[in-house]
Amino acid sequence: MDFNVRLTEAHLFPTGTEDACVTMLFQWKWPDGYCCPRCAHPHCYVTTTRRLPLFECRLCRHQASLLTGSVFEGSKTDLTKWFTALALVASDMGTSALRLSQIICVTYKTAWTMLQKIRYAIGSADMENLLLGIVQVNAAVYNRPLNASFQASPSEHPFFVGTGSNSTAPDGADYVKMKLISKKHIQNRIVHRDAIKAFTQNEISSAATATYVTQRYSSARLVPLLQLAGRASRWMNRTFKGLGRKHLQVYLDEFCYRINHSRDGAVLSSLTHLCMNMPRYTYRQLISFCS
Ligand SMILES: [Zn+2]
Repeated sequence: MDFNVRLTEAHLFPTGTEDACVTMLFQWKWPDGYCCPRCAHPHCYVTTTRRLPLFECRLCRHQASLLTGSVFEGSKTDLTKWFTALALVASDMGTSALRLSQIICVTYKTAWTMLQKIRYAIGSADMENLLLGIVQVNAAVYNRPLNASFQASPSEHPFFVGTGSNSTAPDGADYVKMKLISKKHIQNRIVHRDAIKAFTQNEISSAATATYVTQRYSSARLVPLLQLAGRASRWMNRTFKGLGRKHLQVYLDEFCYRINHSRDGAVLSSLTHLCMNMPRYTYRQLISFCS
């Protein structure tokens, strides 16, 4: 395997070989050539007898895998299948675990785990991106019944959709966040001020100025934000045939990720780099996450 061959994403998507994936991962991990993660020595021995090569530093003997510290770490699934999953998540409609399992010929559980690892990586990255500048936030609802009664239905899930500038959007484009509102912060569909406090603390820079609209029929409601929330809801219902509250947050994060990275046409490359640099969650951790 020649790690000096320069590849582009065109070699991987839509179909590539396992060797091309490995070479691409090497380029992303060490764009200027191998560099020992422990001592920065530039030379290594490469063991290629395993499924994936192992790089041993010639100076300190530290062994490094291309997948260490990435979403793919510990996975036995072929890299070509991982890259197909990434391409599908980056596409406009995303993908369900059922569809992915049929496309890459893995079990539903494997496909679900792969997608959740990607989604939780997206969610973790989003936590580090606070809204800056002039921030606008509107309350929205996923799954509101058409004939909504005074009491909220158990199947409806209120969330905030907020927008502001962000350091990842230096051209001044808006960065979008959608975050579920805790059930304890909603009473008879009234959003408690503690919900606003939580969103402000967790999602907005302390230097920003934020405006909130929480009443559904307020004349001040932010129509573009509500339209975005509507798009997210329709996407979840079309692609997944509806979602429950558990894990709902990471689906909202996935939707926002595509919005935030689609302006420069770089959703797939952004997502791939993100997954290379984000530690993975285990299956046990993934099934334990609840809102
Ligand atoms: Zn070393």
